[in-house]
Amino acid sequence: MKHDCIFCRIVRGEIPAKKLFEDDDILAFHDINPSAPVHFLIIPKLHLENLYDADLSHQPLVGKLFGMAGTLARDQGLHDGFRVIVNNGRVGRQEVYHLHVHVLGGPEPLGSSNLRR
Ligand code: AMP
Ligand code: ZN
Repeated sequence: MKHDCIFCRIVRGEIPAKKLFEDDDILAFHDINPSAPVHFLIIPKLHLENLYDADLSHQPLVGKLFGMAGTLARDQGLHDGFRVIVNNGRVGRQEVYHLHVHVLGGPEPLGSSNLRR
């Protein structure tokens, strides 16, 4: 099914993004409004709204989002730690309803405000 959400449009190449990594299943790109010196997003190409939409059948895909985080963080120079955040729904202050993993990092330790994103 074709979705008009902004991240599906990035997946389809209809909106530009500064891509870091792409394969058949996932895409990683820099956040347009970074909250840290390095801030990128890893998304599934499949439109899932958030983790409420995921079940065990999505385990390989969701695992891949996290499984790539360390490699991509290192690629971006984050050799001394990074933070991963997934906002879900209204209470999680999710703004874009297409599942995404935020990766934030250094060089200096992140503040607690970055806990949100
Ligand atoms: P969240 O609050 O977890 O839904 O965060 C959504 C994130 O997507 C925010 O950090 C936005 O800055 C980011 N974002 C929104 N539109 C774009 C875009 N076109 N390209 C890159 N990042 C975006
Ligand atoms: Zn989408």
